[in-house]
Amino acid sequence: MTVWVLGDQLSTNCGPIEHADHVLMIEAHAFGDRHRYHPQKLLTVFAAMRSFRDRLRESDYEVTYLRAETFGAALDRYFEASPGDDLVIMEPPSHGAGDRLEAMVEARGGTLTRVENELFLTTPAEFDAWAGKHTDDRTYRQENWYRHVRRETGILMDDGEPIGGEWNYDDENRETPPKDWEPPAVLRFEQDETTREVRSFVADRYPDAWGRLPDPDEPIPWPVTREQALEALEWFIDTRLGEFGPYQDAMVTDEWALSHSLLSSAINLGLLTPMEVVDRVEAAYHTGDAPLNSVEGFIRQVIGWREFMRHVYRRSMPELAAANQLEQSRELPPAYWTGETDMQCLSEAVGGVYDRGYAHHIERLMVLSNFALLYGVDPAELNEWFHLGFVDAYHWVTTPNVIGMGSFATDVLSSKPYASSGNYINRMSDHCKSCPYAVSKTTGENACPFNALYWDFLKENEATLRGTGRMGLMYSHVDNKSDEEWDAIRDRADWVRQLTVRGEL
Ligand SMILES: Cc1cc2nc3c(=O)[nH]c(=O)nc-3n(C[C@H](O)[C@H](O)[C@H](O)COP(=O)(O)OP(=O)(O)OC[C@H]3O[C@@H](n4cnc5c(N)ncnc54)[C@H](O)[C@@H]3O)c2cc1C
Ligand code: SF4
Repeated sequence: MTVWVLGDQLSTNCGPIEHADHVLMIEAHAFGDRHRYHPQKLLTVFAAMRSFRDRLRESDYEVTYLRAETFGAALDRYFEASPGDDLVIMEPPSHGAGDRLEAMVEARGGTLTRVENELFLTTPAEFDAWAGKHTDDRTYRQENWYRHVRRETGILMDDGEPIGGEWNYDDENRETPPKDWEPPAVLRFEQDETTREVRSFVADRYPDAWGRLPDPDEPIPWPVTREQALEALEWFIDTRLGEFGPYQDAMVTDEWALSHSLLSSAINLGLLTPMEVVDRVEAAYHTGDAPLNSVEGFIRQVIGWREFMRHVYRRSMPELAAANQLEQSRELPPAYWTGETDMQCLSEAVGGVYDRGYAHHIERLMVLSNFALLYGVDPAELNEWFHLGFVDAYHWVTTPNVIGMGSFATDVLSSKPYASSGNYINRMSDHCKSCPYAVSKTTGENACPFNALYWDFLKENEATLRGTGRMGLMYSHVDNKSDEEWDAIRDRADWVRQLTVRGEL
């Protein structure tokens, strides 16, 4: 049996590969021309694929590894050498990809059998059965799904009840680190020969890629082998998991990683399965090595959010990618490309994405997409930026997060927008202290740009938002503002927009 292993399915721990007598892998380069993908993304994917190929060969697998411009060109070569071959593949999570690959194989005289993608913890059938009973007017509730998965799997459960008596410990998890807090060191991996080879290929082949390509002797934080991924998991558990919970929403200047796991790229490539990550983290709780609030908070990200996003995407495409219920149409501000802005929070987040292809969850949600939402960026354009800029970005995961969660372009996965003024950023970060804008001011010179945009956004989108869940309090503040206040807010919001377009904010 020939198993076709895609670049984000680099696992021997699950799926049909166990029974393969031959493996096909295709490194297709032209996809990288579609967008200015971050060089660290290209480096990580291609280095991980080549390392996986070598590992399979060392384990006596027969591997055909084709480098080509497109899948089509590689498949032409493959079927010339192996006419009529039957290929087996794990279903790719991105919309329509399975159908496209099947048609390409059949056009060349082969067959493609698509089997369950075991790199997710839950199956489509399981989510569909759950959603049939639990969808509230087509808005899926992550919290309900999360509890369902815990009940079904027994993860962090004790005799049918959540361990500790609560489903969720967020109340204990909204802290910012004290001034003298020393963040744990980030684990980095020396570039081996394969990675350096890929690095120089990426430098030559993708001169227009957006983002920083590390020097050849610079260790990188993104695992490209199974061994590195396992080391990264252990490192996270030993050094960061304990404080993951309390600091997961915090932002600190010059501290890009805080206590986040930095595992998303490895999980999304298949170097780690979500189940093994969850098992290992749960075990750390049972051995007394990590507190419940951190363990529960982390596990919720994986079995709640990650699985939930995958299924909502699967069920909501293709409409999801084009959704735009707020009819936002502005171009992405130049600052998202240059990082040049006096806004300390935005410059820190964009700078991190450029340097590393990474920003943590709250920077993605409450800075990068929050500003774009309030300013009025076209959700599809924002999605494209997130898709090209991050090491862990794939259409199936970026799209629901950016279009659904960040842009509120559809209410399919949340009932209210994740929109906030500068107050939230001030509460959860130290950025405002060193920012030339005044977070306490909404209007007038130097007022924090988030503030006027926020109120203007609520007013502009009143018809859609006023009646939506949990927006009542915000609209009571809207109702209490005088005409003079609204005039000043509009003036300031217009001014902020003009400066943003010119890249002068
Ligand atoms: C606008 C926006 C865009 C995003 N784009 C991506 C993306 O392209 N790829 C991606 O993997 N995640 C994306 N996320 C989700 C989340 O921000 C990242 O998974 C996380 O920041 C990765 O860093 P980490 O591994 O240190 O995560 P941690 O904070 O340590 O979290 C643990 C793990 O939980 C999972 N996770 C947590 N939240 C989500 C989520 N909402 N969706 C999917 N998985 C989640 C990830 O596997 C992550 O590794 C996005 C979120 C937002 C708001
Ligand atoms: S004052 Fe406003 S722009 Fe500046 S860091 Fe704070 S939230 Fe960001």
